Amino acid sequence: MNSSSPAPGTLYVVATPIGNLEDLTFRALRVLKEVALVAAEDTRHSRKLFQHYGITTPLTSCHAHNEAAKVESLLARLQQGESIALISDAGTPAISDPGFVLVRQCRERGLTVSAVPGPSAVTAALSIAGLPVDRFAFEGFLSAKQGARREALQGLRNEERTLVFYEAPHRLLATLHDIVLVFGSAREIAVARELSKLHEEVFRGNAEAAIAHFGRDRVRGEIVLLVAPGEREKSQETVREALQRWRRDSDLSMKEIVKRVAREFDLPGSDVYRESLALRQDEIGGVDGG
Ligand code: SAM
Repeated sequence: MNSSSPAPGTLYVVATPIGNLEDLTFRALRVLKEVALVAAEDTRHSRKLFQHYGITTPLTSCHAHNEAAKVESLLARLQQGESIALISDAGTPAISDPGFVLVRQCRERGLTVSAVPGPSAVTAALSIAGLPVDRFAFEGFLSAKQGARREALQGLRNEERTLVFYEAPHRLLATLHDIVLVFGSAREIAVARELSKLHEEVFRGNAEAAIAHFGRDRVRGEIVLLVAPGEREKSQETVREALQRWRRDSDLSMKEIVKRVAREFDLPGSDVYRESLALRQDEIGGVDGG
Protein backbone atom coordinates (compact mmCIF):
# COMPACT_ATOMS: atom_id res chain seq x y z
CA MET A 1 0.00 0.00 0.00
CA ASN A 2 1.32 3.45 -0.82
CA SER A 3 0.88 6.56 1.24
CA SER A 4 -1.79 8.24 -0.92
CA SER A 5 -5.58 7.84 -0.72
CA PRO A 6 -6.98 4.54 0.47
CA ALA A 7 -6.96 1.87 -2.22
CA PRO A 8 -10.47 0.83 -3.29
CA GLY A 9 -11.84 -2.42 -1.97
CA THR A 10 -9.23 -2.62 0.78
CA LEU A 11 -9.70 -3.57 4.41
CA TYR A 12 -7.35 -1.55 6.61
CA VAL A 13 -6.67 -3.10 10.00
CA VAL A 14 -5.85 -0.05 12.05
CA ALA A 15 -4.20 -0.02 15.48
CA THR A 16 -5.51 2.63 17.89
CA PRO A 17 -4.16 3.84 21.27
CA ILE A 18 -4.17 1.54 24.33
CA GLY A 19 -4.60 4.42 26.72
CA ASN A 20 -2.83 7.56 25.61
CA LEU A 21 -4.79 9.19 22.78
CA GLU A 22 -1.59 10.65 21.36
CA ASP A 23 -0.51 7.16 20.31
CA LEU A 24 -2.33 7.24 16.99
CA THR A 25 -0.05 7.23 13.96
CA PHE A 26 -0.32 9.86 11.23
CA ARG A 27 -1.18 7.15 8.77
CA ALA A 28 -3.88 5.68 11.01
CA LEU A 29 -5.43 9.13 11.30
CA ARG A 30 -5.40 9.66 7.53
CA VAL A 31 -6.82 6.22 6.77
CA LEU A 32 -9.59 6.63 9.35
CA LYS A 33 -10.51 9.97 7.81
CA GLU A 34 -10.44 8.77 4.22
CA VAL A 35 -12.08 5.34 4.19
CA ALA A 36 -15.80 5.04 3.42
CA LEU A 37 -16.62 3.26 6.65
CA VAL A 38 -15.01 2.32 9.96
CA ALA A 39 -16.05 -0.97 11.56
CA ALA A 40 -15.50 -0.59 15.31
CA GLU A 41 -15.78 -2.97 18.24
CA ASP A 42 -17.79 -0.44 20.25
CA THR A 43 -18.93 2.60 18.32
CA ARG A 44 -19.59 4.63 21.48
CA HIS A 45 -16.07 3.98 22.70
CA SER A 46 -14.50 4.88 19.34
CA ARG A 47 -16.51 8.12 19.11
CA LYS A 48 -14.23 9.56 21.79
CA LEU A 49 -11.21 8.94 19.58
CA PHE A 50 -13.08 10.31 16.57
CA GLN A 51 -14.06 13.47 18.44
CA HIS A 52 -10.55 14.01 19.68
CA TYR A 53 -9.17 13.87 16.12
CA GLY A 54 -12.14 15.41 14.27
CA ILE A 55 -12.81 12.18 12.33
CA THR A 56 -16.29 12.19 10.79
CA THR A 57 -16.24 8.88 8.88
CA PRO A 58 -19.39 6.78 9.48
CA LEU A 59 -19.00 4.07 12.11
CA THR A 60 -20.59 0.65 12.22
CA SER A 61 -20.26 -1.95 14.94
CA CYS A 62 -18.31 -5.18 14.55
CA HIS A 63 -17.88 -6.93 17.87
CA ALA A 64 -17.41 -10.46 19.20
CA HIS A 65 -21.15 -11.15 19.23
CA ASN A 66 -22.02 -9.93 15.73
CA GLU A 67 -18.75 -10.36 13.83
CA ALA A 68 -19.84 -13.48 11.94
CA ALA A 69 -23.14 -11.89 10.88
CA LYS A 70 -21.58 -8.52 10.13
CA VAL A 71 -18.85 -9.91 7.95
CA GLU A 72 -21.11 -10.56 4.94
CA SER A 73 -22.27 -6.96 4.67
CA LEU A 74 -18.71 -5.65 5.10
CA LEU A 75 -17.42 -8.06 2.46
CA ALA A 76 -20.16 -6.96 0.06
CA ARG A 77 -19.14 -3.34 0.46
CA LEU A 78 -15.45 -4.16 -0.02
CA GLN A 79 -16.32 -6.16 -3.14
CA GLN A 80 -18.14 -3.10 -4.47
CA GLY A 81 -14.88 -1.23 -4.18
CA GLU A 82 -15.37 0.66 -0.93
CA SER A 83 -12.46 0.88 1.48
CA ILE A 84 -13.12 0.03 5.11
CA ALA A 85 -11.06 0.39 8.28
CA LEU A 86 -11.36 -2.06 11.13
CA ILE A 87 -10.58 -0.87 14.65
CA SER A 88 -11.06 -2.31 18.13
CA ASP A 89 -11.55 -0.51 21.43
CA ALA A 90 -7.81 -0.38 21.99
CA GLY A 91 -4.65 -1.58 20.35
CA THR A 92 -4.42 -3.85 17.35
CA PRO A 93 -7.61 -5.53 16.08
CA ALA A 94 -7.64 -9.34 16.06
CA ILE A 95 -5.11 -9.52 18.92
CA SER A 96 -7.45 -10.86 21.63
CA ASP A 97 -10.07 -8.74 19.87
CA PRO A 98 -12.56 -9.16 17.02
CA GLY A 99 -11.14 -9.12 13.52
CA PHE A 100 -9.95 -12.61 12.70
CA VAL A 101 -13.17 -13.72 10.99
CA LEU A 102 -13.30 -10.67 8.75
CA VAL A 103 -9.61 -10.77 7.86
CA ARG A 104 -9.77 -14.46 7.09
CA GLN A 105 -12.81 -14.05 4.86
CA CYS A 106 -11.19 -11.17 3.01
CA ARG A 107 -8.12 -13.30 2.35
CA GLU A 108 -10.22 -16.23 1.20
CA ARG A 109 -12.02 -14.00 -1.30
CA GLY A 110 -8.87 -12.41 -2.59
CA LEU A 111 -9.63 -8.97 -1.13
CA THR A 112 -6.73 -6.77 -0.10
CA VAL A 113 -6.03 -6.50 3.62
CA SER A 114 -3.55 -3.87 4.71
CA ALA A 115 -2.05 -3.35 8.17
CA VAL A 116 -1.82 0.08 9.71
CA PRO A 117 0.41 -0.95 12.61
CA GLY A 118 0.62 0.78 15.95
CA PRO A 119 0.04 0.12 19.63
CA SER A 120 -0.59 -3.29 21.12
CA ALA A 121 -0.38 -4.07 24.82
CA VAL A 122 1.62 -7.24 24.18
CA THR A 123 4.50 -5.49 22.41
CA ALA A 124 4.35 -2.44 24.66
CA ALA A 125 4.70 -4.64 27.75
CA LEU A 126 7.48 -6.76 26.28
CA SER A 127 9.41 -3.68 25.22
CA ILE A 128 9.69 -2.30 28.77
CA ALA A 129 9.33 -5.27 31.15
CA GLY A 130 13.00 -6.18 31.15
CA LEU A 131 12.37 -9.89 30.64
CA PRO A 132 14.05 -11.82 27.81
CA VAL A 133 12.36 -10.72 24.63
CA ASP A 134 14.30 -12.47 21.88
CA ARG A 135 11.62 -15.15 21.85
CA PHE A 136 8.18 -14.95 23.40
CA ALA A 137 4.86 -16.78 23.35
CA PHE A 138 1.66 -14.75 23.52
CA GLU A 139 -1.08 -16.73 25.24
CA GLY A 140 -3.90 -14.18 25.29
CA PHE A 141 -6.27 -14.48 28.27
CA LEU A 142 -6.05 -17.48 30.60
CA SER A 143 -9.32 -19.12 31.57
CA ALA A 144 -11.31 -17.53 34.39
CA LYS A 145 -11.82 -21.04 35.77
CA GLN A 146 -9.11 -22.21 38.12
CA GLY A 147 -8.93 -25.79 36.84
CA ALA A 148 -8.60 -24.82 33.19
CA ARG A 149 -6.15 -22.05 34.07
CA ARG A 150 -3.89 -24.41 35.99
CA GLU A 151 -4.06 -26.96 33.24
CA ALA A 152 -3.05 -24.36 30.66
CA LEU A 153 -0.14 -23.27 32.86
CA GLN A 154 0.94 -26.88 33.39
CA GLY A 155 1.06 -27.29 29.64
CA LEU A 156 3.46 -24.33 29.48
CA ARG A 157 5.71 -25.57 32.23
CA ASN A 158 8.66 -26.34 30.00
CA GLU A 159 8.23 -23.37 27.71
CA GLU A 160 11.59 -21.79 26.99
CA ARG A 161 10.24 -18.46 25.75
CA THR A 162 8.92 -15.56 27.80
CA LEU A 163 5.19 -16.07 28.26
CA VAL A 164 2.82 -13.16 27.82
CA PHE A 165 -0.78 -13.12 29.10
CA TYR A 166 -3.53 -10.56 29.21
CA GLU A 167 -5.15 -10.61 32.63
CA ALA A 168 -8.09 -8.95 34.35
CA PRO A 169 -7.17 -7.02 37.52
CA HIS A 170 -9.55 -8.96 39.75
CA ARG A 171 -7.96 -12.26 38.67
CA LEU A 172 -4.32 -11.21 38.91
CA LEU A 173 -3.72 -12.56 42.42
CA ALA A 174 -5.39 -15.90 41.72
CA THR A 175 -3.28 -16.29 38.59
CA LEU A 176 -0.10 -15.35 40.47
CA HIS A 177 -0.90 -18.07 43.01
CA ASP A 178 -1.32 -20.56 40.17
CA ILE A 179 2.00 -19.42 38.73
CA VAL A 180 3.69 -20.12 42.06
CA LEU A 181 2.07 -23.55 42.10
CA VAL A 182 3.15 -24.47 38.58
CA PHE A 183 6.41 -22.56 38.03
CA GLY A 184 7.54 -22.12 41.64
CA SER A 185 7.72 -19.03 43.83
CA ALA A 186 11.14 -18.01 42.53
CA ARG A 187 10.12 -17.69 38.88
CA GLU A 188 10.80 -14.19 37.56
CA ILE A 189 7.71 -12.40 36.33
CA ALA A 190 6.64 -8.91 35.31
CA VAL A 191 3.29 -7.20 35.58
CA ALA A 192 2.81 -4.25 33.22
CA ARG A 193 -0.17 -2.18 34.30
CA GLU A 194 -1.93 0.80 32.72
CA LEU A 195 0.59 1.14 29.91
CA SER A 196 0.80 4.61 28.37
CA LYS A 197 -1.62 5.94 31.00
CA LEU A 198 -1.18 8.18 34.02
CA HIS A 199 -0.64 5.32 36.46
CA GLU A 200 1.64 3.19 34.29
CA GLU A 201 3.52 0.68 36.45
CA VAL A 202 5.86 -2.21 35.76
CA PHE A 203 6.51 -4.62 38.59
CA ARG A 204 9.37 -7.03 38.07
CA GLY A 205 10.46 -9.64 40.57
CA ASN A 206 9.69 -13.19 41.55
CA ALA A 207 6.17 -14.55 41.70
CA GLU A 208 6.08 -14.55 45.48
CA ALA A 209 7.16 -10.91 45.71
CA ALA A 210 4.47 -10.06 43.15
CA ILE A 211 1.82 -11.63 45.37
CA ALA A 212 3.04 -9.55 48.31
CA HIS A 213 3.10 -6.40 46.16
CA PHE A 214 -0.31 -6.78 44.56
CA GLY A 215 -1.90 -8.28 47.66
CA ARG A 216 -1.64 -4.98 49.51
CA ASP A 217 -4.49 -3.13 47.74
CA ARG A 218 -7.24 -3.85 45.29
CA VAL A 219 -5.61 -4.30 41.90
CA ARG A 220 -6.94 -1.90 39.28
CA GLY A 221 -6.41 -1.13 35.64
CA GLU A 222 -5.39 -3.07 32.59
CA ILE A 223 -2.71 -5.68 32.92
CA VAL A 224 -0.19 -7.67 30.92
CA LEU A 225 1.45 -10.48 32.85
CA LEU A 226 4.79 -11.86 31.71
CA VAL A 227 6.58 -14.98 32.93
CA ALA A 228 10.29 -15.35 32.22
CA PRO A 229 11.61 -18.69 31.03
CA GLY A 230 12.83 -21.04 33.74
CA GLU A 231 16.42 -22.11 34.18
CA ARG A 232 17.79 -23.88 31.12
CA GLU A 233 18.67 -27.19 32.79
CA LYS A 234 15.13 -28.32 32.13
CA SER A 235 14.02 -29.31 35.60
CA GLN A 236 15.68 -32.49 36.71
CA GLU A 237 12.19 -33.88 37.15
CA THR A 238 11.66 -37.54 36.24
CA VAL A 239 8.70 -38.88 34.29
CA ARG A 240 7.40 -40.36 37.51
CA GLU A 241 7.62 -37.02 39.31
CA ALA A 242 5.83 -35.34 36.42
CA LEU A 243 3.02 -37.90 36.64
CA GLN A 244 2.75 -37.22 40.37
CA ARG A 245 2.80 -33.46 39.81
CA TRP A 246 -0.04 -33.58 37.29
CA ARG A 247 -2.06 -35.85 39.54
CA ARG A 248 -1.55 -33.47 42.46
CA ASP A 249 -2.27 -30.24 40.54
CA SER A 250 -5.09 -31.26 38.18
CA ASP A 251 -8.33 -33.21 38.07
CA LEU A 252 -7.36 -35.00 34.86
CA SER A 253 -7.70 -38.74 34.35
CA MET A 254 -4.49 -40.79 34.29
CA LYS A 255 -5.00 -41.29 30.54
CA GLU A 256 -4.98 -37.52 29.99
CA ILE A 257 -2.05 -37.05 32.35
CA VAL A 258 -0.04 -39.66 30.43
CA LYS A 259 -0.69 -37.75 27.18
CA ARG A 260 0.50 -34.49 28.65
CA VAL A 261 3.61 -35.89 30.28
CA ALA A 262 4.49 -37.67 27.03
CA ARG A 263 4.24 -34.29 25.27
CA GLU A 264 6.34 -32.56 27.96
CA PHE A 265 9.09 -35.14 27.76
CA ASP A 266 8.74 -35.74 24.04
CA LEU A 267 8.38 -39.48 24.69
CA PRO A 268 6.06 -42.11 23.19
CA GLY A 269 2.81 -42.34 25.16
CA SER A 270 3.39 -46.07 25.65
CA ASP A 271 6.61 -45.38 27.62
CA VAL A 272 4.87 -42.94 29.92
CA TYR A 273 1.90 -45.27 30.27
CA ARG A 274 4.25 -48.04 31.38
CA GLU A 275 5.76 -45.69 33.98
CA SER A 276 2.27 -44.81 35.24
CA LEU A 277 1.53 -48.52 35.72
CA ALA A 278 4.82 -48.99 37.56
CA LEU A 279 4.01 -46.00 39.75
CA ARG A 280 0.60 -47.42 40.60
CA GLN A 281 2.15 -50.80 41.29
CA ASP A 282 4.72 -49.27 43.63
CA GLU A 283 2.06 -47.27 45.43
CA ILE A 284 -0.13 -50.34 45.93
CA GLY A 285 2.93 -52.27 47.03
CA GLY A 286 3.80 -49.43 49.38
CA VAL A 287 0.36 -49.50 50.99
CA ASP A 288 0.27 -53.28 51.20
CA GLY A 289 3.75 -53.41 52.53
CA GLY A 290 2.61 -51.01 55.31
N1 SAM B 1 -6.13 -5.69 20.88
C1 SAM B 1 -5.54 -5.22 22.11
C2 SAM B 1 -4.02 -5.10 21.91
O1 SAM B 1 -3.56 -5.06 20.79
O2 SAM B 1 -3.31 -5.03 22.91
C3 SAM B 1 -5.89 -6.08 23.29
C4 SAM B 1 -7.34 -6.22 23.55
S1 SAM B 1 -7.74 -7.19 24.91
C5 SAM B 1 -9.48 -7.30 24.80
C6 SAM B 1 -7.59 -6.07 26.26
C7 SAM B 1 -6.49 -6.49 27.23
O3 SAM B 1 -5.23 -5.99 26.76
C8 SAM B 1 -6.65 -5.91 28.61
O4 SAM B 1 -7.51 -6.69 29.40
C9 SAM B 1 -5.23 -5.95 29.12
O5 SAM B 1 -4.89 -7.25 29.53
C10 SAM B 1 -4.45 -5.58 27.85
N2 SAM B 1 -4.28 -4.13 27.77
C11 SAM B 1 -4.92 -3.28 26.96
N3 SAM B 1 -4.50 -2.02 27.19
C12 SAM B 1 -3.58 -2.08 28.16
C13 SAM B 1 -2.78 -1.12 28.84
N4 SAM B 1 -2.88 0.18 28.58
N5 SAM B 1 -1.93 -1.55 29.80
C14 SAM B 1 -1.84 -2.87 30.10
N6 SAM B 1 -2.56 -3.80 29.49
C15 SAM B 1 -3.43 -3.43 28.54
